[in-house]
Amino acid sequence: LRLAGLTTERSTIEINGVTLGGKEIILIGGPCAVESSIQMIQSAETVKKAGGKILRGGVFKPRTSPYSFQGLGREGLNYLVQAAREQDLLCVTEVIDAPSLELVVDQIDIIQIGARNMQNFELLKMAGKINKPIILKRGLSATIEEWLLAAEYILSSGNPQVILCERGIRTYEPSTRNTLDLSAVGVAKELSHLPVIVDPSHAAGRRDLIASLSKAAIASGADGLLIEMHPNPAEAVSDGPQSLHPEQFIQLAGELDVVAEAV
Ligand code: PEP
Ligand code: MN
Repeated sequence: LRLAGLTTERSTIEINGVTLGGKEIILIGGPCAVESSIQMIQSAETVKKAGGKILRGGVFKPRTSPYSFQGLGREGLNYLVQAAREQDLLCVTEVIDAPSLELVVDQIDIIQIGARNMQNFELLKMAGKINKPIILKRGLSATIEEWLLAAEYILSSGNPQVILCERGIRTYEPSTRNTLDLSAVGVAKELSHLPVIVDPSHAAGRRDLIASLSKAAIASGADGLLIEMHPNPAEAVSDGPQSLHPEQFIQLAGELDVVAEAV
């Protein structure tokens, strides 16, 4: 079996002057869900101040409960894109199906496929037909092989720009929301040429662990970090307990520079 993802030469992905998989650790930050224009403007300002390069925010939220906030859709997309452009940041948002992909594809710099859709093979094939980088999150209970095969769906459909994202897997341990599998960074980089980033926020589910897990991720070889941050986490409509306060995000970014220098 020969897979496109299995080569020894490392891929770098360049998006408007930002290189993923290169020397620089790329910081992605922003709220779980886009809630308002002002929330996104403040988030973008914080990401910029921290030296981050990419603003995130969900406008289609694949929530575990159908009664949870499902996202602002098109209206939220405008808030995200405008806030990012004003600060000269790239932006990323999650798509969940064909209509959401179609709606965002021309405006968004990077498309995210979430953990719950990692094995939505039709969506993966559609992501393989577009000319935008894809962040592919590891499924809740996916093995590394299953995750790489999901990436392979995108690659073999014609899109070479895949960024793998480890975001914690389901284990028997209830202290954290998921268990961050840092070994996966090295294994995925050994088995594939793709950039690998880490999302400590959905792994931990609690803000007190984000700084240490982020540093460990960089020490483990991650090419970037995806961290949830909210101007006012207590008021967040989703994932408030794991979202950093803006000052915490800026402070952590400074500390991460020191770790990145050391590795
Ligand atoms: C998210 O990034 O907000 C998200 C829903 O992540 P995951 O798919 O990893 O749960
Ligand atoms: Mn979230």
